[in-house]
Amino acid sequence: MTAPVPRLEIKDLRRTYEGRPVVDGVSLQIMPGQVTCLLGPSGCGKSTTLRMIAGVEMQDSGTINVDGKLICDTVFRVPPERREIGLMFQDFALFPHLSVADNVGFGLKTGTKAEKRKRIEELLERVDLKRFIDGYPHQLSGGEQQRVALARALAPRPQIMLMDEPFSGLDNRLRDGIRDETLSILKEEDTAVLLVTHEPDEAMRMADEIALMRNGKIVQQGAPYNVYTRPIDRASVAFFSDANVLRASVSGALAQTPFGRFLAPGVPDGTAVDIVFRPQHVRIDFDRGGKGPAPTATDGAAARAVVERARFMGNESLVEFRMDHDGSMLKATVPNVFLPQPGAVMWLTIRRDKCFVFPVA
Ligand code: ATP
Repeated sequence: MTAPVPRLEIKDLRRTYEGRPVVDGVSLQIMPGQVTCLLGPSGCGKSTTLRMIAGVEMQDSGTINVDGKLICDTVFRVPPERREIGLMFQDFALFPHLSVADNVGFGLKTGTKAEKRKRIEELLERVDLKRFIDGYPHQLSGGEQQRVALARALAPRPQIMLMDEPFSGLDNRLRDGIRDETLSILKEEDTAVLLVTHEPDEAMRMADEIALMRNGKIVQQGAPYNVYTRPIDRASVAFFSDANVLRASVSGALAQTPFGRFLAPGVPDGTAVDIVFRPQHVRIDFDRGGKGPAPTATDGAAARAVVERARFMGNESLVEFRMDHDGSMLKATVPNVFLPQPGAVMWLTIRRDKCFVFPVA
């Protein structure tokens, strides 16, 4: 059996600006119907990668293939307009002199007038803007214009769709609905999607696969669950959520902390490690009038801490503690409402199965 051919494959793409590598050997494969999110902090090279695939920017080296056919290397280059790649960028621009219908229909090159009109109506229906079909861009709000731009990008049923923060201008309430609708249209059409975002929530919600990018490189790639639960380093944990960090030294493959000992297999003696854990994996127990936590409440490795402040966040409460042992701060989240008074003494334990131990680089 032959291996399936990726719809989009980029190999070792590189781009340098003013001597600084901005995209530094990025490789990706995206299958038909797959959504891959290129996720990373501002300036890490996500948009530059997308622009090279779109053909509006030239790579210094590396190749781009569509359905196994080369479309761009350093000598051969299919021009952007012949790549049949749908684009939905941050700075979408509708044609101001064209009606909403004509904007959406702009990329429809084949089909009869009636077929084109049907496709335009269908898409405007799906982005909930059919009532504006004969209107003009200036009559629409920013969010509505963005939805028209989405419909325009989807209209020609591109085999590949490149999206750069396409939902960033929409308010929260609208965003979830539009995002889900866009995803279902793209899935129905079996489109390969590369979506750039710096928002972990958006990537978790949209992606079949997340490619985590930092300083021009993809540092980790996989299904959202795997990337979230098996981060490769401290920065990857912190990118997805708040993270607490305990620094400790290793002796006999164990790191000693006020929360007890943590396994550090294969880490040489004397090496510093960071034990990283998320606020939702901290357990809080009350102090029994200076006698410590109830004996059954902990595994014997509770650390004493004092509440610094507590805030209600909607679905959960965030409690910040000052640790007794070294005065450092630690964050814990608790479902629903839990707002202890500042100064209250508590005992903290952490879910060991949810901790990550990383040698300090
Ligand atoms: P953001 O999420 O903020 O859009 P990004 O990850 O998409 O960030 P890029 O837009 O790819 O990042 O930019 C990566 C780096 O390359 C940035 O430091 C940027 O300043 C630089 N850069 C991008 N385009 C150019 C250019 N034409 N000339 C010089 N430097 C550039």
